[in-house]
Amino acid sequence: EDFGLKDGSLFRTQAFVAGQWIDADSGATIDVTDPATGAVLGTVPDCGAAETKRAIEAANAAWPAWRAKPAKERAQILRRLFELMMENQEDLARLMTAEQGKPLTESRGEIVYAASFFEWFSEEAKRVYGETIPAPAGDRRILVLKQPIGVSAAITPWNFPAAMITRKLAPALAAGCPMVIKPSELTPYSAFALCVLAERAGLPEGLLSVITGDAKAIGGEMTANPIVRKLSFTGSTAVGKLLMKQSADTVKKLSLELGGNAPFLVFDDADLDAAVEGAMASKYRNAGQTCVCANRIFVQSGVYDEFAERLAAKSKEMKVGNGFEDGVVQGPLINESAMEKVERLIADAVDKGARIVTGGGRHELGRTFFQPTVLADVTPEMAVMREETFGPMAPLFRFETEEDGIRLANATEFGLASYFYSRDIGRIMRVGEGLEYGIVGANTGLISTEVAPFGGVKESGLGREGSHHGIEEYVELKYLALAGL
Ligand code: ADP
Repeated sequence: EDFGLKDGSLFRTQAFVAGQWIDADSGATIDVTDPATGAVLGTVPDCGAAETKRAIEAANAAWPAWRAKPAKERAQILRRLFELMMENQEDLARLMTAEQGKPLTESRGEIVYAASFFEWFSEEAKRVYGETIPAPAGDRRILVLKQPIGVSAAITPWNFPAAMITRKLAPALAAGCPMVIKPSELTPYSAFALCVLAERAGLPEGLLSVITGDAKAIGGEMTANPIVRKLSFTGSTAVGKLLMKQSADTVKKLSLELGGNAPFLVFDDADLDAAVEGAMASKYRNAGQTCVCANRIFVQSGVYDEFAERLAAKSKEMKVGNGFEDGVVQGPLINESAMEKVERLIADAVDKGARIVTGGGRHELGRTFFQPTVLADVTPEMAVMREETFGPMAPLFRFETEEDGIRLANATEFGLASYFYSRDIGRIMRVGEGLEYGIVGANTGLISTEVAPFGGVKESGLGREGSHHGIEEYVELKYLALAGL
């Protein structure tokens, strides 16, 4: 299988540890499949703690030379990586659609987004400014240095196989830190292709390792090993909490991007065309499988019926199919258990009185294809109020006042992304300030960009990725007191 790549050498089936392409010590492998067809694309090594330990030790050995490099030299390598990703955009997108299922147009978009982190942090690498603080005594000076935290580790999910890696790797390298990465075993080839490009960009050996295999064993070594000073994780809340507990013994610095339960509010004064468009973009991106997808859509009663009708009409028009096919805007879900979750949430809602406006079940294409679905008359008693759907299902709740809308939107333990549509400037400020979320989109359904801080509050996580804040996650402050001057 070569996925029609122009450069076949981007397709690697070995892990990249300490600058070498390796098999697992045991020789065991894991199959990787195309979710659209079920075809086995290839295998990846089934590594464990021993390979992870070697990667961590190699990273530690490579660290001193990397941190000592002038920031400008680190920046040049990151800049080159950005360019190489863009030069290979089509191949990287094809690999991604093959292993992840998202439509090729979305994969191309993700490569641009993923590459943008190398571009941005190649620039930020040069701007890690320290400070001087006026001292309390005449013979003293106070300096604050920003130094790289050290060997970092990352564990990433399958929904954005490239961008969830570069969003962590780029600031780590920019700050002067090595990184050992465990991608999802469902989408490892995008991660290995990045290693090929990193080698080409001239990244010194050992600074980047990518390991696949037994998640528990690899995660166990990453969290227990005292050399690792920082762990960055994107994935489910349950695994995030587990990794936080495991990291307690060595007191690691953590960045966690966990689940969301994004509210999307449409007020009576909204531009309905824009609101429908925003809801489509936010809800159905990656077949609803992102942590910032609109999960609960709250519509004020004056526009409820019309909004439901328009959203359903647009949802019906969506072309579902293999992501490689022209015109397809929604691919398959990642696996059977994802299907069962959406089915369960729909059944629960319908059972408690919700109405299916369009879709409602499995697509006639079979496998893990699901119909774009709109449910009306959804109420807070239904499971979808609390659970993240991670699929192409839009549940429409009705609300009356602005206060009710904000209260319902905030009634969750999560706090990642939120959205609302209104044309009243006073309301835009009130709601924007009132939503307990790390990210608020006012009159937009698309909020991701490398220049802004991405991250959640409450149980959605810790830390921010992207923007000038993103690099702070990989530096430590050192206060240097100069006395007796
Ligand atoms: P998702 O529902 O998105 O698959 P997960 O949290 O299960 O979310 O997966 C995100 C990443 O976490 C994947 O790379 C997965 O392999 C990894 N993972 C799952 N369980 C563990 C674990 N016990 N320790 C370390 N990593 C894990």
